[in-house]
Amino acid sequence: MDYTQAKQRIEQLRAVLWENSRKYYVENAPTMSDYDYDQLMHELEDLERAYPEYATPDSPTRRVGSDLETGFAKYPHKYPMLSLGNTYSIGEVEEFAERASKSLEEPFTYCCELKFDGTAICLTYRNGKLFRALTRGDGVMGDDVTANARRIANVPETLKGSGWPAEFEIRGEVLMPYDSFDRLNKEREDNEDQPFANPRNAASGSLKLQDPEEVARRGLMCTLYHIPTGQVDFPTHDEALKAAQEWGLPVSGERRLCRNIDEIEAFIAHWDTARKQLPFATDGIVIKINEMDAQRQLGYTAKSPRWAVAYKFKAEQALTPILSIDYQVGRTGAVTPVANLEPVFLSGTMVKRATLVNEDQIEMLDICEGDWVYVEKGGEIIPKITGVEESRRQPGARRPAFPKVCPDCGTPLVRPEGEAKWFCPNIDGCPTQIKGKLVHFLSRKAMNVLAGDATVDQLYNLDLVRTPADFYDLRESQLLILEGWKERSARRFLDSLSESRNVPFERVLFAIGIRYVGETTARDIARHFGDIDTLMGASKEDLTAIPDVGEVVAESVFQYFRDERHRAEIQRLRAAGLRMAVARSGGNASEALAGKTIVISGNFSVSRDEMKALIEANGGKNSGSVSGKTAFLLAGSKPGPEKLKKAEALGVPVLDEEAFRKMLPEGSLPAVGDENGELTLF
Ligand code: NAD
Repeated sequence: MDYTQAKQRIEQLRAVLWENSRKYYVENAPTMSDYDYDQLMHELEDLERAYPEYATPDSPTRRVGSDLETGFAKYPHKYPMLSLGNTYSIGEVEEFAERASKSLEEPFTYCCELKFDGTAICLTYRNGKLFRALTRGDGVMGDDVTANARRIANVPETLKGSGWPAEFEIRGEVLMPYDSFDRLNKEREDNEDQPFANPRNAASGSLKLQDPEEVARRGLMCTLYHIPTGQVDFPTHDEALKAAQEWGLPVSGERRLCRNIDEIEAFIAHWDTARKQLPFATDGIVIKINEMDAQRQLGYTAKSPRWAVAYKFKAEQALTPILSIDYQVGRTGAVTPVANLEPVFLSGTMVKRATLVNEDQIEMLDICEGDWVYVEKGGEIIPKITGVEESRRQPGARRPAFPKVCPDCGTPLVRPEGEAKWFCPNIDGCPTQIKGKLVHFLSRKAMNVLAGDATVDQLYNLDLVRTPADFYDLRESQLLILEGWKERSARRFLDSLSESRNVPFERVLFAIGIRYVGETTARDIARHFGDIDTLMGASKEDLTAIPDVGEVVAESVFQYFRDERHRAEIQRLRAAGLRMAVARSGGNASEALAGKTIVISGNFSVSRDEMKALIEANGGKNSGSVSGKTAFLLAGSKPGPEKLKKAEALGVPVLDEEAFRKMLPEGSLPAVGDENGELTLF
């Protein structure tokens, strides 16, 4: 490889790694396996070593992947939160042990621990009480998730015993056990939300929710494994953890002190199989030098401690036959092939089904009916078929025939240009699509009506409901003929429907289920146009004028409202009393900021005067300078460095515009003057 080629490859690798790091840490939806990601990272490390002139301080080899998100207050870590050097090879663990022996004069031991596959957390206890919880963030600053950490069942609010320092940080991992994970994904699939790829993504996605009640429901757990040196005075890492355990903190007991590489290897070999019985995901073993003095002596690289290394397990695979293939029709009409497998135990759960994604994937993997296939899960992606064992193929086995017509309503399927999936175009007539849309309409994030698939099935089968507007015409007497329904259940359902009339327009728009219009897009569109009539009259250009609304979404929304049936449905929903405009109000919009003095700095999506008016309209007070009385610094882009510094020094939280907006009641947006110069919130 010459210099130009090396430079090109380095740049290419960095771009791919940053992109995948964002998908992994921020979107919680990786598309690459950890193994492939780690191989590319190692290739980049080797190239930067061979061509040091191209090494830069901002390379992914020298920075931890950042999970920082808008919408959270941010605080600096007292000590940087780093990553771990990792390897998939026992040989490299041996090299790590040899390096440590050469550098350290005093005898030392190793503390071997499970490598928990969740998301890192840093808890600060002040005077024995949980004071703050931060994510790893970019290693220097973390997102404040204290309210959420308080809703994790095994995170103690108050320490027990004695001897804890007045203030200290303890770090660990937030995990989603397999049973919580399976329950959550089942729910998401029922609601046609994208399921989480693995418990790690589900844990980090849950820790970043804005709703602590929902966090409590998610069934997370925490396990702690590190108190940064300097905060407590124990001679060894193991003793520090033992003390933490006595203070009531959840510390994993699955660790062992090892004296040499043979003992380390025995520990690895044991957990390589034993971990499959654990109720949560692990992806390796962490080997740490146990003596604090030795740790101090070895120190850190820019990205990880030199006194520890992670040995990572390769993804687990299982071989099992395909029993049959189902073709499932979703709410949007997309047809997904799903393989029913001979049940097989993999990474803590029984796998019975695996997605075959689409027709191209079946061809690419060269899958025939009855084939024995390799299924992978290993701390990664939901069961996925990764290959075929051709030696076990039955003679004459044939490629499964992808259906030409909808398995539900018999309409010929279409594959629109640029789409990887086949669709049933009978969007308003296909029973599965109709029922899927009705379930979506009632779902929690949409109209939040207390009913699920079973109710929709019953109502549909008796021909009582075909479109969402039909729900609002239902009478108690009709509900009472449903099997198992009593007066109480009927009343509850009708009351819940009645309450849904208060659901803001943003969510009504999401609920009606226009293709490609998810929660965020619905909110953006609703706020942009303000009401349904303006939206229905909007051209495609009007729609693409909204940031983040592209051609595909604009086309879908535009076409949706060109259909007479949809316009008639909207009129019926309007007549039923659903909100068809974003809440407007004059005067005080809310008391959400009552008693709070707020300092603003930087540029926002609206003018600073408008931002100040918004603060006042919600009961807050503006102030020009940061002091101990400041509730928070509201920082837009390019905030004043002096204000930021002062806020940091005084421990005043810094919020961005998004986090700030989330504090306001739904429907509240930056105040702007209307034509008459009056203050309106739209
Ligand atoms: P890591 O997950 O490999 O290891 C460091 C982390 O391990 C620590 O931050 C800590 O959170 C955790 N950990 C678990 N148990 C521990 C213990 N007992 N002691 C100490 N730490 C423990 O490193 P990372 O920086 O969090 O993530 C990088 C890894 O993430 C990559 O190696 C890759 O596997 C994966 N990744 C994958 C993709 C993808 O697209 N698939 C993208 C980015 C990162």
